[in-house]
Amino acid sequence: MKFFSTAGKSKPVTFREAVLYGMADDGGLYMPEHIVPLDAELITKLPDLGIRDMARSILRPYCTAVLDDGTFDDIIEEVFTFDSPLVALGDDLYVLELFHGPTLAFKDFGARFMARTLSEFAARENRELTILAATSGDTGSAVASAFHKRPGIRVVLLYPSGMVSEIQEKQLTTQGANVTALEVTGTFDDCQRLVKTAFLDDELKMHRPLSSANSINIARLLPQMLYYFSAFGQLGGAQVPVFSVPSGNLGNLTAGLLASESGLPVRHFIAALNANDSFKRYLTTGRYEAGRTIATLSNAMDVGDPSNIRRIFSLYDSDAETIGKFVYSDSFSDERTLEAIREIHGKYGYVMDPHGAVAYLAAMEYRRSTGSGVPTVLLETAHPAKFKGTVDAALNLDVELPDALKACMEQEKKSEKISPDYDEFRAFLWKGV
Ligand SMILES: *Cc1c(COP(=O)(O)O)cnc(C)c1O
Repeated sequence: MKFFSTAGKSKPVTFREAVLYGMADDGGLYMPEHIVPLDAELITKLPDLGIRDMARSILRPYCTAVLDDGTFDDIIEEVFTFDSPLVALGDDLYVLELFHGPTLAFKDFGARFMARTLSEFAARENRELTILAATSGDTGSAVASAFHKRPGIRVVLLYPSGMVSEIQEKQLTTQGANVTALEVTGTFDDCQRLVKTAFLDDELKMHRPLSSANSINIARLLPQMLYYFSAFGQLGGAQVPVFSVPSGNLGNLTAGLLASESGLPVRHFIAALNANDSFKRYLTTGRYEAGRTIATLSNAMDVGDPSNIRRIFSLYDSDAETIGKFVYSDSFSDERTLEAIREIHGKYGYVMDPHGAVAYLAAMEYRRSTGSGVPTVLLETAHPAKFKGTVDAALNLDVELPDALKACMEQEKKSEKISPDYDEFRAFLWKGV
């Protein structure tokens, strides 16, 4: 299996190279040359399979050439150590809880697989790698936790100052060891731009080998297919669901589309957005225009120019009409998000975080506009305690922090402030630790 660049100018590469480079040198993102179709028998067996069994069938074909069976097995045993339970709310609504990993957000699935494969490949080359990750909140902690203390790896996280929650910031800035947090006095898009610029800086990369750890790394994306299969299995394997996906960089949605292209029965995807609605505007007008990033309560979705849109374009030949057949999209204000948190709690007794609440709003709107009552799976991408301030205020509750978070809150924040100026960032990377 080879991986091609969505920008179409670089040569196709192996899984190993795609993971190590992160982004192609023509600025494109890597995509598998073909999507491996699953045999129908596997689909019927999904209700009986655990996440690691699914990984052996679904993920394995993408990396056979560069990981032997034993190594692959070791990796998935180490990486997929937690579940993604499906909780029934009622009214044919389900919550897929993706927050049972170490940093309490869905990004643990992808980040852990990527960290483990990347360290494997880097160790074979015997070179130190610097991992760059721009984060609007949860990416950073998932990545930092996944790479923490891995030999030969240095992690540099960039996050927008004042735009992540207190808990997220603590998770980003208290890892220590091989992890440095850079607090950028700018937006998330500035952070992403700094990372992208560094990747196109050949002189810097010669001096200091870089790799990316955002959802642009294909090793982050592929494992995210697994929990869509898991949800289908947990629904009993006979019902064709709608998935409502709280979306920012559209990585989670892209993984769902890949799952469906490889044979998972899905009625529709819903790209649930906050005020950052570039993708919805694209589906409506057929023209893509990046937006300015707007800060919201569901801040892990505050992305004006979602990077994975290029993968979606490549899957469907940049045809908005075709994409619109698979994906419905809607966007919601913070005010509606707060109302939704209250409504879900009132109706179902369930405490939802702001991202999941946006998924709920979009699912309700989808039902109204399609008259459809099919089983609807809301992806709950973070534990509500990660957004304690918002959730407590909305519900007049005191959401309890899980133990892992309590421990982290007691530690001291350690970050370095930098401006969104590339030269400053470059100098920081150049000098090393
Ligand atoms: C990252 C994140 C999202 C957005 O996922 P994308 O793959 O970037 O679309 C949604 N919710 C939470 C909690 C996140 O951390």
